[in-house]
Amino acid sequence: MRVLIAEDDPVSRRIVEITLRNWKYDVVPVADGKAALEILNGENAPRLALLDWMMPLKDGPQVCREIRAEPAPRYTYIILLTTRSGKADIAEGLEAGADDYVIKPFEAIELKARLLAGSRIIELQDQLLEAQEELRHQATHDALTGVWNRAAILDKLEIELQRARRQTTPLTVMMADLDRFKTINDTYGHQAGDVVLRNVAQIMSGAVRVYDAVGRYGGEEFLIVAPGCDVLTAQTLSQRLHSHVGRIAQAANHPAASVTCSFGVVTTIDGNVDSDALIRAADDALYRAKTNGRDRIEVAAAAEAG
Ligand SMILES: [Mg+2]
Repeated sequence: MRVLIAEDDPVSRRIVEITLRNWKYDVVPVADGKAALEILNGENAPRLALLDWMMPLKDGPQVCREIRAEPAPRYTYIILLTTRSGKADIAEGLEAGADDYVIKPFEAIELKARLLAGSRIIELQDQLLEAQEELRHQATHDALTGVWNRAAILDKLEIELQRARRQTTPLTVMMADLDRFKTINDTYGHQAGDVVLRNVAQIMSGAVRVYDAVGRYGGEEFLIVAPGCDVLTAQTLSQRLHSHVGRIAQAANHPAASVTCSFGVVTTIDGNVDSDALIRAADDALYRAKTNGRDRIEVAAAAEAG
């Protein structure tokens, strides 16, 4: 763990530095409050700070106040080093935003314990942020395939549709459904079916353009949102998706390798349509692909997008 030490007295700074190095901390020493603030607000800043109270340019409490005034993604745990031991002084330091204080001259055993407490807080916060990030991922992604889940892909559609309307740009929506997927599950079991779904999701994610989004809309149904994609581009994109799913699934040499996919495609030229109508149009086109023999792409007439 890296610790910033701000102390103007060179001898005291050196003592703290050596003491902390002996305890296996990485030490970043500075001599005044301004330098401390610059480092703490900089990139890859130390998360633990040991600030002297009395320093030139900015004192310890002032550094605390300025750190706490800015919303930071990661918390800085601050310990004030002070010769002041009056209750009012200590209260002032804590109110300025310090987490703890150590009275000088400090006893090594006490400083060590307080640094340990600070490290624990930092580690707890990191774990919390990680868990939060994990939850956010789980809330927006499909657990089986890793692509966006239904709610998230519908959100994306809504956002991109608004953008298309605002900028008068085209937007394409594709509904892709694996053909006779039930047969795969019935013949080879659900685990084989899951593998196929994961493969197809991966293939689709790799075959779309970087700004396109792929989501699992239902069981074996995927929704693709392609912003800025006009009728011609939609043709290229859907053909690429269609052939990739066919080709790579075969190369997988799996019992379920013969999987094919049907596509329903709709494009709005200016976003002047609501998302329900777009989905309905893609669905209708998909239905036509199914009734026309599957393993094909059907494109909705512009009128269908309403
Ligand atoms: Mg000082």
